[in-house]
Amino acid sequence: MVSEIRYSDDELLISRFEDFLEEFGYAQLIPTLSDFYPDERSLVIEYNDLNKYSDEIMGLLQFHPNNFFHCIEEAVKRLMPVKNLERGALLHVRINDAPKRNSIIVRELRAKHLGNFIAVEGRASRVTEVKPRLVDAKFKCLRCGAILKEHQEDLFFKEPLECYEEQNGCKRTAASTKFKLLSEESTFVDTQKLEIEENPEGKRGGAQPQRLVAYVEDDIVGDINPGDRISLVGTLRTTQKAWPTKSNMFETFLEVNNISHEQHDFEEFEPTEDEKKEFLKVSEDPRLYDKIKGSIAPAIYGYPIEKEALALQLFGGVAKTLSDGTKVRGDIHILLVGDPGTAKSQLIRYISKMAPRGSFTSGKSASAAGLTAAVVKDDFGEGRWTLEAGALVLADKGHACIDELDKMSKNDTSALHEAMEQQTISIAKAGVNAKLLCRCALLAAANPKLGRFSATESKGEQIDLPPALLSRFDVILPFTDKPNKDLDGRIAQHILNNHYVGEILRHGGEGISQAQIEKRNELAEQSVPYLDRDFLKRYIAYAKRNVFPVLSQEAIDLIKDYYVNIRNKSEQKAKDDGGSTTIPITARQLEAFIRLAEASARTRLSHEVRKQDASRAINIVEHYLHQVAGEDGSFDIDIIATGMSKPQADRKRVIRAIVKSLGDNGRMFHIDKVIAMARDEGIDKGQTETLMKRMHQRDGIIYEVRTGSGEFRYAGN
Ligand code: ADP
Ligand code: MG
Repeated sequence: MVSEIRYSDDELLISRFEDFLEEFGYAQLIPTLSDFYPDERSLVIEYNDLNKYSDEIMGLLQFHPNNFFHCIEEAVKRLMPVKNLERGALLHVRINDAPKRNSIIVRELRAKHLGNFIAVEGRASRVTEVKPRLVDAKFKCLRCGAILKEHQEDLFFKEPLECYEEQNGCKRTAASTKFKLLSEESTFVDTQKLEIEENPEGKRGGAQPQRLVAYVEDDIVGDINPGDRISLVGTLRTTQKAWPTKSNMFETFLEVNNISHEQHDFEEFEPTEDEKKEFLKVSEDPRLYDKIKGSIAPAIYGYPIEKEALALQLFGGVAKTLSDGTKVRGDIHILLVGDPGTAKSQLIRYISKMAPRGSFTSGKSASAAGLTAAVVKDDFGEGRWTLEAGALVLADKGHACIDELDKMSKNDTSALHEAMEQQTISIAKAGVNAKLLCRCALLAAANPKLGRFSATESKGEQIDLPPALLSRFDVILPFTDKPNKDLDGRIAQHILNNHYVGEILRHGGEGISQAQIEKRNELAEQSVPYLDRDFLKRYIAYAKRNVFPVLSQEAIDLIKDYYVNIRNKSEQKAKDDGGSTTIPITARQLEAFIRLAEASARTRLSHEVRKQDASRAINIVEHYLHQVAGEDGSFDIDIIATGMSKPQADRKRVIRAIVKSLGDNGRMFHIDKVIAMARDEGIDKGQTETLMKRMHQRDGIIYEVRTGSGEFRYAGN
């Protein structure tokens, strides 16, 4: 227990600190500090040393930090050779490595903590530019010319109350003279304002994250980027709200003494020795892979391949730097796109809770920063520009789940390309130049263009996202909702069972028969994950942090053969049919295979990617390509890479030439004429109609004179 003391006698305290500095070897560091002064002006003291030294001193630090820092800084100054230190110049003592267990969660900060020295952890969500703050102001009395010093305490500008006699002034009051600020002769200190947001791990359910404002000053400014995971120590202070009127409500902020960045990935999931043993035991279970798949949203019926892909995404591939310095991401990006009511949102919500450092947002994000980042000027910055982190930046080193991706803002769409591939977001606006990191796996959900998949176009063409963005997803999974008596029955039974179990649980004991309870127990089984969700979360974090599998020769061969084969087949088919060659897959998919295979090896904590891992990866990518880029039994990756299949692009060129020739000079033409001419070129009626509709509704190359008339004019050039 720390005792609460407050020395009224500063001299006594200072001498105790001098004693402390000698005993723990800090006194020896002071001459070096002095040599580099004022470029270096902080002496860093280990928290543990203080702890070892005296409980009283710890109590002083915790409850009376002002007194503590005033005296210890004075002690340091006295130990410093005087030659280049003018008394009163800035010098800081900073406390390092306050133990995590002492830190207070932002949500739990209360009035009793005011004025205390505390440690908090979180992510920086907003960071302002660095601006100077006035600390020691010099004023000139315009009546008598005396130069007056006025120390500035907090954020409010303080002028002298009178022309101080003890500073050789004329004693006139502020009302009968004027003071001019001499900014050149005043002392300023760099300041920066931050907002830190509690870590999502600590927050309850979907609660809004709690935030805390912090001020950083002097030599430690400029070290933090939005999205960084940091812990801060400092004094919790208050300011009175002065607007619109002076109020009894106070705002709290942290006056930062020291910052430390997170040292390791997933620090919060540090396993115990026993837990490690448990992980290793589980990793040897031959049925582990099935159990993991079965633990993904068991309340949702079906979707075996989809769940498998999501399971692999949780484990992720290996991020690497190639020998030429290029960085390749290991994170797997997945897009779920499909009809409404097919449990997409439910799935990604589940994943966001199960993934270590998972976060959930909607594409229609409310904050100015949206999904990526923004530079804004608002109240927070107090006149400064603020760099604000969006959802992906805040999800750095985590798992970002974004629902309704198709509803994101234009701004985000363009920044997302870089975010997904390079995993950085560059911002250059208003003099703020920053590169923020967003090393996270992205799981997104979107609806098709018309809200529901239509049968006329291939699925890949109905995704309302720019092709450049689509092709950056490793896996795209369509969810269709077609009536199917057999499947519908099973899904309905599954959903009804879940609700039934929920109802009985809610109802409690009374009036429930034994038979009902037995039925409940039996049914409840079906939706219990094989592996406990929290256990799996920790297992995944452990795997991501410690396991970096390497491709075996077998796996390499399998992936290579598949890749070469499928590209060859398409070329062969084109020769046989006499059509043009389609591109079935590109090197992008090759990377997807590798990442998925690595993730599969990670599931059993294996350091080697084996054949089975490679074939799982191939299975998943093949499934997705069939669904999304399937064209006459083979694949055509152009549907994803350009938004249109290659034969379709060829057909479009033909139709375009036809409408251009017919509609030349503003002439009107009928769709039947186009259909007839296209038929001569081997394009059937349905295809022509689809393409005409597209040119009309989307590209605006043609327009219909009167809706439904079938008469068109050419508007392109
Ligand atoms: P989406 O985001 O695809 O529009 P939701 O996730 O909002 O759909 O799902 C709507 C509801 O339908 C959810 O309550 C979900 O539980 C239920 N549902 C849909 N498909 C299934 C399924 N296969 N198994 C269990 N529940 C399902
Ligand atoms: Mg939804």
